[in-house]
Amino acid sequence: MSEHSGSELPARILNDLQTSFRPVNKGAEKWLYRPIPCLNHGFVYLVDYMGNDEAIAQAARVSYGTGTKKAQTDAGLIRHLLRHAHTTPFEMVEFKFHCKMPIFVARQWIRHRMASVNEYSGRYSEMLDEFYLPEPEVIRKQSVSNRQGRGDDLTVEQQREVISILKAEFASQYDAYQKLLRMDVAKELARIGLSVANYTQWYWKIDLHNLMHFLRLRLDSHAQHEIQVYGQAMARIIESAVPIAYQAFSDYRLNAMSLTALDISFIQSGGWPRSEEQVLKELAARFSNKRERDECLQKLKQLSLVRRE
Ligand SMILES: Cc1cc2nc3c(=O)[nH]c(=O)nc-3n(C[C@H](O)[C@H](O)[C@H](O)COP(=O)(O)OP(=O)(O)OC[C@H]3O[C@@H](n4cnc5c(N)ncnc54)[C@H](O)[C@@H]3O)c2cc1C
Repeated sequence: MSEHSGSELPARILNDLQTSFRPVNKGAEKWLYRPIPCLNHGFVYLVDYMGNDEAIAQAARVSYGTGTKKAQTDAGLIRHLLRHAHTTPFEMVEFKFHCKMPIFVARQWIRHRMASVNEYSGRYSEMLDEFYLPEPEVIRKQSVSNRQGRGDDLTVEQQREVISILKAEFASQYDAYQKLLRMDVAKELARIGLSVANYTQWYWKIDLHNLMHFLRLRLDSHAQHEIQVYGQAMARIIESAVPIAYQAFSDYRLNAMSLTALDISFIQSGGWPRSEEQVLKELAARFSNKRERDECLQKLKQLSLVRRE
């Protein structure tokens, strides 16, 4: 029996099974069972949570003992923890989401191993006639500079054609799937002709530390647009649930920049701002790797160190 059992419990709790000693997180409560639509058939919603900003500070204070209790405000402590990568207190906060996404998004998502997952089973249940059709504006050419990304615009006619090719393809795939099911082929085999645009869904439980890691990678402009959409949905929920931790994450991780030793040495060489032509010349002398040169140039531009001609 727990120390709070039996007659010790106030009548208010005995009479109301919903009453709990757990801290209630109002910012999270307002997102419970409220799906945020993602892409054409997907969504993210919060199923359950544990903890709040205070839980992070409370866990950190265990490390330091009662002597430091409230010596710093929660906000100051949380921001200090994140700046100095004292990350375990952030693991004390957890979120459980129900998410529905195209299989190709799920494949990228599942690479984040520090989460617990229960996925829809295409062996057990019929796959739905739901496929991801991109909005016209996100249908673009293959990028020439980034082999993993999208580049220039396609014409409106080309975008329309892409959509009609995909629609016909998905209709034919789902038709074949239904034919195989009617032949009584096992679901686990009948599904193999369906594309990675078909939707799946899962419950996904993760702690705040690992969720911030996920968000940093998947909110980044280098991540595929379609997974960014899910990252943005979860970020809205997290910002509301743990506003202090989210602000620290935004300041120190999401919108921060890391400088390499080579970047620092270049910046320390002085004479800023410089023209882009000068910068490119100097970068060529300092960096043998083109990608590193480009990345350094981007950082210098972000820091307004490159003069606009
Ligand atoms: C823009 C982008 C492009 C990508 N391109 C590719 C690609 O082309 N091909 C590809 O295969 N993947 C690709 N990935 C996936 C990437 O390599 C990672 O697998 C993914 O981002 C998950 O990161 P993670 O391992 O840090 O996360 P998690 O699995 O959540 O792990 C979190 C942290 O836990 C620790 N950890 C977890 N498991 C282990 C382990 N077994 N051993 C040691 N430490 C562990 C690590 O510190 C890790 O950073 C890409 C990711 C992004 C964001």
